[in-house]
Amino acid sequence: MNEKLTVTPFGEIAIKKHREIKGRIKTLTLKREASGKWFAVFCVETPEEIPRENKGKTVGIDLGLKTFATLSDGEVIKNPRHFKKHEERLAFIQREFSKRKKGGSNRKRAKIRVAKLHEKVADTRRDFLHKITTQLVDDYSVIALEKLASQEMSEENYGKFINDAGWSKFAKMLAYKAEGAGCRVVFVDPKDTTQECSNCHKIVQKDLTERMHNCPFCGLSIDRDLNAARVILIRATPGQGGSNASGNVAIATSMKEEAHAYS
Ligand SMILES: [Zn+2]
Repeated sequence: MNEKLTVTPFGEIAIKKHREIKGRIKTLTLKREASGKWFAVFCVETPEEIPRENKGKTVGIDLGLKTFATLSDGEVIKNPRHFKKHEERLAFIQREFSKRKKGGSNRKRAKIRVAKLHEKVADTRRDFLHKITTQLVDDYSVIALEKLASQEMSEENYGKFINDAGWSKFAKMLAYKAEGAGCRVVFVDPKDTTQECSNCHKIVQKDLTERMHNCPFCGLSIDRDLNAARVILIRATPGQGGSNASGNVAIATSMKEEAHAYS
């Protein structure tokens, strides 16, 4: 795009515009590069971008192993089916690899196969996380999650620790995407989220094998993960039902910076 730029006191200068100038021009700097080319550098002021308002609902999410996530509104996000297939194949190739003689050509080939499959598994996981996090920040205005087990590793959460790598990526992606989508991610105290009754808030002890939450106090009988998701939601919305809900809320500001690495 060849245009003229008027600069006092030099008059008109022919310029090649590399990009549109948006906003109000504050300063102009003319500089000469080592190559001998002249550049006109504009510094502009743009109106602050107002995050678009998201009119979605508030949701609590319980992250699991068998199903990836259970939402407090009853929706369930399953782990992608090919995950398991890839992971089984990876375990098989890795066994093969370890059987090969060191320095042999078969071992080298096996090593490449392992690396390639690792890459594929990682790609699949990343694609999956991108897809669901985009959907979630578009659908909801506030998303409540448990503070990750790695941050607060209680005995209760020990079992969940296995899948933590995937979860922390999920949480970081969610926090980073939320910003631009007018959505807020809130982390709550994970203590007893599976044991507390989402209706009467009494503690109902259950081990990992019990899939249902059957409350002997108020009679509530629902899926255990759904109950946990509801407890998480209640902890994120103090004053809207739920005892001692205040004080558990921590907004994910500290995670935002790190989260940009996943964009
Ligand atoms: Zn109850």
